[in-house]
Amino acid sequence: MRLILLGAPGAGKGTVAKLLTAMDGSVQISTGDILRAAVKAGTELGKQAEAAMKAGELVSDDLIMGIMKERLQEADCKNGYLLDGFPRTIPQAEALKVLLADISDKLDGAVNLNVPRDVILDRLTTRRTCTDCGAIYNVKSNPPKVEGKCDKCGGPVVQRDDETEEAISNRLDVFNKQTAPLVGFYEKEGLLLDINATSSDAVVEAIKAHLAK
Ligand code: ADP
Ligand code: ZN
Repeated sequence: MRLILLGAPGAGKGTVAKLLTAMDGSVQISTGDILRAAVKAGTELGKQAEAAMKAGELVSDDLIMGIMKERLQEADCKNGYLLDGFPRTIPQAEALKVLLADISDKLDGAVNLNVPRDVILDRLTTRRTCTDCGAIYNVKSNPPKVEGKCDKCGGPVVQRDDETEEAISNRLDVFNKQTAPLVGFYEKEGLLLDINATSSDAVVEAIKAHLAK
């Protein structure tokens, strides 16, 4: 399957992507994970992205398109992909459309995960992430077995730099201004699948039903 996952920070894009990749061998492509790995490794890309990320602002469209142009042509994309956190702006969505036409790929849909703002805020402040493998935990509903240590890889499980209250509120504003318009964009493209995303399992069922049609 080839899907775009839309939704506010904390809507569950990463969780849903992981559940879906386990179904059919498609890969999860998270621009946030790619950027965080680059920051951690101290690469040129990481240096260019770091300040914007820390403030909860978006990284430039050019930088993101450079990453995605290469990423979507890697061999593991042959079995499909779930785009998590990309596209994030109308120019990215337009550039993606051109890129997909160039490489003759066709999307199965753009899934909009709808979650009420109070649920989002609660999820983001309690979310913890493994800095080595990107696994996501929640201090209340899904803590790692050993505090601060990833169940999957043993890496450190911490609160992200951009999950302070101030950065979270900024990320939600940026989302409402720059990313929410993508719902209308994909509706016009005839690709939108709008889902109530309070439960990740229900989301997976709704996507399966959509794909079977
Ligand atoms: P979230 O949990 O907010 O969805 P991500 O892990 O997707 O966070 O992204 C973290 C940060 O990385 C964003 O706040 C932004 O600075 C940067 N980023 C990720 N994807 C993009 C993108 N497609 N365009 C611009 N910036 C991006
Ligand atoms: Zn891990």
